[in-house]
Amino acid sequence: MLWIIALVVCVIEGAKLGGDVAGSWHGSLIGGFVGSVAWVAGLFLLAWMGGQWSGSGYVPQCRNGCCRSYHPDKDDRDFRLKVIERECYWLCKCGDRYQRRGKRFVLINEDGTETPYMIWRAFRGWFPDGG
Ligand SMILES: [Zn+2]
Repeated sequence: MLWIIALVVCVIEGAKLGGDVAGSWHGSLIGGFVGSVAWVAGLFLLAWMGGQWSGSGYVPQCRNGCCRSYHPDKDDRDFRLKVIERECYWLCKCGDRYQRRGKRFVLINEDGTETPYMIWRAFRGWFPDGG
């Protein structure tokens, strides 16, 4: 709902500004258009910021160093998301299992125990997790 209000505000403010600058309805039309473009750009920026903040969808390089990190905007497929017994896992090509725990990325060992691996830092990426 909020993004629709934001769109309307962007278009109206853009139209007002355009009308003031150009002094005609042409200006309002162009201003309104610019406002809607600014809204779309803002939406993309917000989505990008959200992704950078939480790191959701981002996966680091595997611990063997042979599988590339996974980025939602790129088509890298070294990691696969798989559901095993109702749990979601990231599987790399080496066969290692990883799980996302908030901002942490943990390695799931053969016996089901977890080893801290990497931690996401907002806007900075993955860093080794000290535990
Ligand atoms: Zn791997």
